[in-house]
Amino acid sequence: MMGPFCNEPMTDFSLADNRRLLETALDDIKRGYGQLYPLLIGGREIVPENMKHSINPARHGETLGIVAQADRKRAAESVDIAAAAFEHWKRVDPAARARTLYKAAALLRRRKHEFSAWLVAEAGKTWVEADVDTAEAIDFLEYYGREAERLCAPQPLVRIPGEDNEWTYVPLGVGIVIPPWNFPLAIMAGMTASAVVAGNTVVLKPASATPVIAARFVRLMHEAGLPEDVIQFVPGSGSEIGDVLIDHPLTRFVSFTGSMEVGLRIVERAARLQPGQRWIKRVIAELGGKDAIVVDRDADLAAASLGIVQSAFGYAGQKCSACSRAIIHADVYEEVTERVTALTKRLTIGDPALYGTDVGPVIDRAAYNKIRQYVTAGKLQGRLLSGGGMDDGAGYFVEPTIIADVDSQASLAQDEIFGPVLACIRADDFGHALAIANDTPYGLTGSVYSNRRERLELARDLFHVGNLYFNRKCTGALVGVHPFGGFNLSGTDSKAGGPDYLIQFMQGKVVSERM
Ligand code: GLU
Repeated sequence: MMGPFCNEPMTDFSLADNRRLLETALDDIKRGYGQLYPLLIGGREIVPENMKHSINPARHGETLGIVAQADRKRAAESVDIAAAAFEHWKRVDPAARARTLYKAAALLRRRKHEFSAWLVAEAGKTWVEADVDTAEAIDFLEYYGREAERLCAPQPLVRIPGEDNEWTYVPLGVGIVIPPWNFPLAIMAGMTASAVVAGNTVVLKPASATPVIAARFVRLMHEAGLPEDVIQFVPGSGSEIGDVLIDHPLTRFVSFTGSMEVGLRIVERAARLQPGQRWIKRVIAELGGKDAIVVDRDADLAAASLGIVQSAFGYAGQKCSACSRAIIHADVYEEVTERVTALTKRLTIGDPALYGTDVGPVIDRAAYNKIRQYVTAGKLQGRLLSGGGMDDGAGYFVEPTIIADVDSQASLAQDEIFGPVLACIRADDFGHALAIANDTPYGLTGSVYSNRRERLELARDLFHVGNLYFNRKCTGALVGVHPFGGFNLSGTDSKAGGPDYLIQFMQGKVVSERM
């Protein structure tokens, strides 16, 4: 019997002993560079002709792993095999399924720095960001294990005489899990483990930029005792195999985290009934954000400025929760933009493998090129206060960039850029600031810095986002503490790490017996 859930603590890297642990791990994983990662379908390793190198975004000449790429035939086969595996996995006692997750969490806790080191190498995360990612993965395993135990037990019902009634949740079937590269351990593990612990089988198509971490997580799940046919590991290009996986008539649900464009496409395709299909496919999607921090006139301006910098430039702005708009009351606009600029100029940009680096690279060339276009456009849409420099000589580095005086309808203030680019927008008053904040197609996170109760209450009511924070940064949701997910085009309103998440991978069954 497990105790109540509690969050995994972060590692304190101000202690030399802890620094040594990660330094050693960063050295140790180098021995594993360049390994081959086959497809894993039905527990069978398959090495197809087509392979892709996974590289270090801070040193794009460095290959971390050589990863098999599934073609359409293998992708279709993986769904068939997952469907066959569902027949035995759905019968396994939910408590036993949960124990697999607890065991995986224990193994991951023991090998925490090894996984964090891979996050530094493959995703370009700084030490702290990597440590947070690993801790969150442990949290998801622990949390969803307990949620499965809670939801798979008979649920409360109104009792009537003469009947024995029971309501339980049963699994759905085969899930296609398509996680993002920006939390390549935490979100990938959370999406996969939630589907699996609910009794479903999975085809995991890892993010193309971070397949090595996903492959290593799948191995960890096997070490924890998960039968090898429950997760099919099927890396491949989205344009080649994505539609095959989603269209397959045996696909029961799709769990996706990524861009709005891809998410909407999945929703559309999954809605079409295929020959032989016997259900309405469910899509669980966590999409983008254009998140804002609103600074009121009488806020603690030092705290607000720090919150903006942390939210905008942590992991080089590559979070769907990142602050990409600072909406500042006109009376304090100059002071806040100056403070934000001064703090940003102090950030250290460089190799994330070095302790003390604040901002590492962006994930790949496509991201680098996209961000460059926005930086160029941004210089015309406002006043450059900081950054603007880019260098792809060794890795994909972008300076944290601040553009002031941006119109709230400019592309810099409307499009999700997913990089270290912050637009500062002047608001006439607090009401105007909230109106600007709500005026994008998204609704994921937001923050308000204010010392006035009535302003916070107004924001509580009007600021339409799934995760609203007061007097703190808008990133860093904790499992169980801040269930995470947004409104509008930010997704299907689901909340990862919250009590209604797991039900999405299950259906309720009521059995009523006349006595
Ligand atoms: N949950 C993360 C946070 O609160 C963001 C997740 C994401 O970027 O997809 O910062």
